[in-house]
Amino acid sequence: MANPSYNRKGFGLKDQVRPEIVAEYDGGLIPQIREQGYKYQRGNVTVHLAEAFGFCWGVDRAVSMAYETRRHYPDKTIWITNEIIHNPMVNAKLKEMGIKFLDLDEQDNPKIKDLGIVGEGDVVILPAFGAAVKEMEALENRDIAIVDTTCPWVARVWNRVAKYENANFTAIIHGKYAHEETIATASRAHCYLTVLNLEEAQWVCDYILHGGDKAVFLAKFEHAHSLNFDPDVDLERVGVANQTTMLQGETEQIGKLFERTMLEKYGPQALSEHYMSAGDTICNATQERQDAMLKLVEEPLELIIVVGGFNSSNTSHLHEIGLRQGFRSYHIDSPNRIGPGNRIEHKPLEASHRGPFTVEENWLPAHPVKIGITSGASTPDRVVSEILEKVFMLHEMLNAG
Ligand code: SF4
Repeated sequence: MANPSYNRKGFGLKDQVRPEIVAEYDGGLIPQIREQGYKYQRGNVTVHLAEAFGFCWGVDRAVSMAYETRRHYPDKTIWITNEIIHNPMVNAKLKEMGIKFLDLDEQDNPKIKDLGIVGEGDVVILPAFGAAVKEMEALENRDIAIVDTTCPWVARVWNRVAKYENANFTAIIHGKYAHEETIATASRAHCYLTVLNLEEAQWVCDYILHGGDKAVFLAKFEHAHSLNFDPDVDLERVGVANQTTMLQGETEQIGKLFERTMLEKYGPQALSEHYMSAGDTICNATQERQDAMLKLVEEPLELIIVVGGFNSSNTSHLHEIGLRQGFRSYHIDSPNRIGPGNRIEHKPLEASHRGPFTVEENWLPAHPVKIGITSGASTPDRVVSEILEKVFMLHEMLNAG
């Protein structure tokens, strides 16, 4: 980055901002539940907490850097490109600290952020999931201090894409094409195709092997490919990359599927000319949380609560794991989604983050109940604790009446 005021390490104020962050986001019941082996009982409600949940290292680092930036530049106008992480509580707190958010464009299009509003001498914080190349370029050669909180795990994927780019391979990105991280990753490839899941990957591989209608292909992946993408040419040499927070097993399956497809089409001698191996670029934190969720669903639970922002990819995958195991699972982002009375407003898996909520009455049984709870990598412990307090209160109320 040509900008001389580019910072991606913070300002050495980590220890100073730590107490503030702990007071704001940690605490409540969580330390006690951890100490008790991730199990807690109050009245007739037994809670099983996933053994890995909540703030990941990358989010912790990004939040800390944002707090440090406020301290380092007490009088400057500070901007964040959209959200630093996908959590409403953290973003609201940063707004309270006077940090301004660069909104989406008029069409609510996450691809373009209006950086023209940033004044000379201002500070811009780039989020944990990274910024698109165009956004970085728009900030270059201006008198703007940049604090880049991009998680190193995301940067690892960018390195992977750079390898494909250098070898003139198309990057097949396993991710959500409208997610900021995937937008940032895709912006680093001249040629890419984003597939959401194994089903879409299979569709693409069928096209590679058997051909098909190019117009249908382009319509199906309308927002998910690079400019002038030609599936008849651009799928001859591919490598798989991913959004760091996808389901790990699925990314692996997609990688193997493309490898098998290229093997079948071009034969073993020519495989390396047509397929580059992805390696593992699912981040540790995502993997740990998914593994902990897989362990949690072995418990005899009556229902599961998954806590996290609705645009948080890793949270929705935790929710998906519970649902796949046949559990009643509720994805909520705050205690305010519970009540009034025995009512919960939650986001079904199939709804996009701007899609409608489902409201369910009488969701919590009055009888003795075992519930599982986990939270995504951008969720403060405080929120999980407040939700549990609300559940205990509701259960008590149901039995008092
Ligand atoms: S979920 Fe993983 S990639 Fe995302 S910020 Fe956390 S550690 Fe980094």
